Parts: sequence; structure tokens; C-alpha cells
Amino acid sequence: MSTKTIAVLTSGGDAPGMNAAVRAVVRSGISFGMRVMGIRRGYNGLLNGDVFEMNLRSVSDIIHHGGTTLYTARSPEFNTPEGVQKAADNCRKMGINGVVVIGGDGSFRGARDLTGAGIPCIGVPGTIDNDIASSEYTIGFDTAMNTAVEMVDRLRDTTESHDRCSVVEVMGRRCGDLALQTGIAVGATTILVPEIPFDFHKDIVERMRFTQKTGKKHFIIVVAEGVGGVDKLAKDIEKETGIETRATVLGHVQRGGSPTLRDRVVASEMGYYASELLNNGKSNRVIVMRGGKIVDLDITEALEMKRVFDKHLYDIAHKISI
Ligand code: ADP
Repeated sequence: MSTKTIAVLTSGGDAPGMNAAVRAVVRSGISFGMRVMGIRRGYNGLLNGDVFEMNLRSVSDIIHHGGTTLYTARSPEFNTPEGVQKAADNCRKMGINGVVVIGGDGSFRGARDLTGAGIPCIGVPGTIDNDIASSEYTIGFDTAMNTAVEMVDRLRDTTESHDRCSVVEVMGRRCGDLALQTGIAVGATTILVPEIPFDFHKDIVERMRFTQKTGKKHFIIVVAEGVGGVDKLAKDIEKETGIETRATVLGHVQRGGSPTLRDRVVASEMGYYASELLNNGKSNRVIVMRGGKIVDLDITEALEMKRVFDKHLYDIAHKISI
């Protein structure tokens, strides 16, 4: 009887919790009786053969570490038909019959293409941005939010002492979820997200003036990466209101750090589920969270879904931050 061999890789931007997902794929894969290989630096490792066999102890002491011990990369070469073919040929040479791809939408497109070239793939959503349309939740999002909240709380101390306004940019690419959740948690006066257009005077200046009249002396404005322009915004606010205003871009600190309980648990469950699907002969699926439950969808259908922004939560934030 030939033993099935699967492999696991992390691809695209790293996210806290990816290690927990890798650990779950490896341990459950071995417990199902499969051989499990690790691929370094995303699809690059498949192209250049940077692949090694993993055992139960290969994933010891990684569940609490941020980043990814398999390393990650963006692979322009893989993103071509020739690259996908070469990766599939290499899988066949190495006896790999299935691959778990932990990453974002771009990585899932790669997984779909690799499946098309004859190597069954399963996607696991790993990105701090929560920008995968098919899944309510992506591994790393909770840790990134908590890091952003901690950082903005620190800014708030100094903003308060100086009666200033802080304009803070948080990550999220084209998705405003990280800004929305962080903005609510830090009590931001205004939250700017790419999904909702804003008016500088009505949504920022007038709100600051109104809250100032009711006794507020310092202000936090949270801006999503997809809106950007925080330096100019800070200058405009200072000019218009006379309140000293500073811009801060949190940047990649949000990508690091020990994963939260939620990220470790979701990553563990998703990683297990991915191994189980490959063991059961499933292919071209992505593991997602829907209605709070972990389920699987066809990758191609998942990639066609459109993200729905939580406008209701945004409206609540708007009402309670005055
Ligand atoms: P993420 O997975 O976080 O969205 P990227 O969009 O950078 O990150 O994608 C990661 C890698 O996935 C790319 O470097 C490339 O190798 C592969 N990839 C992205 N888009 C495609 C595509 N349309 N077809 C095939 N592979 C892709």
C-alpha cells in the first residue's frame, strides 16, 4: 500500500497563527498515516526543491511564535503557466500528492492553478487583513487587532497629555475591518475605511468641533491603509481646527507577535481540517469560517465571492464615538 504524501507551505504576507496551522497540518497528517513534507518560502520552495520531511517534533515549540517557521515569499515565477507546470512536475518527482497552502487570496489563486495542473490543493486563510471574501475570519486578524489596540492606547496617553489629535493608520490593504474593529476598541472619533466614502468637514472637522464643545480635549482618528494619506490629513486637521495633530503609521508591527488564543485555536482547527480533506481525497477546497463555523468551499467559487463590509457595525461606531 502506498502512503499518501502531502506538503504544506505558507505564502504571501505572514500572519501570527500560521505556525499553529502548520503544526496542526503536520500532526494531523501524520496521525492519519500520511507522510508530511514542509515547503520553504511559499511557491518558491516548490520551484527550487526546498522541501523537507517533517515529523511530530518538527513543529514543537512553534504554536506561540508569530511569523512562519516555513518562511514565506511572493513568487513571480510561480505566477506564470510555466511556473505552475514546473511546480506540479516537481511535486510529482518528489511524490507529493497534495498541498496545503496557507495564505491569502493570491495564494489561493496559485492553489487553484496547481490543482488544475494535477496536484490536489487545499487553502487555509492566513492574513492579518481579514480580506478574504469567502471567510468571515482569517488567521492572524485577532492578533493584529489586539496589537493595533495596544499601540493606539499608548498613543492615546500622550495625545491626552498634550490635548492633541492623533491620526493613526492601521493595516488591512483594501479591507477596512482592522480599522473598524480597532477604531471601536480605542474609541476613535472617526474611522475612515475604503468601503465608505467620507467628507473631511462633516465626518472629521464637525465631529471634532461638536465633541470639543461637550468637553472632549483629545482625539483619535483611525484610518485604514486602503484610505491612507495620514500625513496630509493630519496637516489639514491642524489647519482647520487649530488642534495640534500628529500622524502615525503603525505598519508592520501589526504583523508580528505571539498569536492570541483565538488565532491559535482557529489555526489549529483549520489546519486539522485541511489535512483531513486531503486524506479523504478532496481537492480544490478552501477552509473558511461561515456563521462562526469552520467549513470548506470550492476554491474557484470562493475566489469569485465579493466581500461584504459590516456597515451596521460601522454605523454603531459612528453613533457611540461622539
Ligand atoms: P496573498 O496570498 O497574501 O494574497 P499574494 O497576492 O502576494 O499574497 O500571493 C502570493 C503568491 O501566490 C504570489 O507571489 C504568487 O506566487 C501566487 N499567486 C498570486 N496570484 C496568483 C495567480 N493569479 N495565479 C497563480 N498564482 C498566483
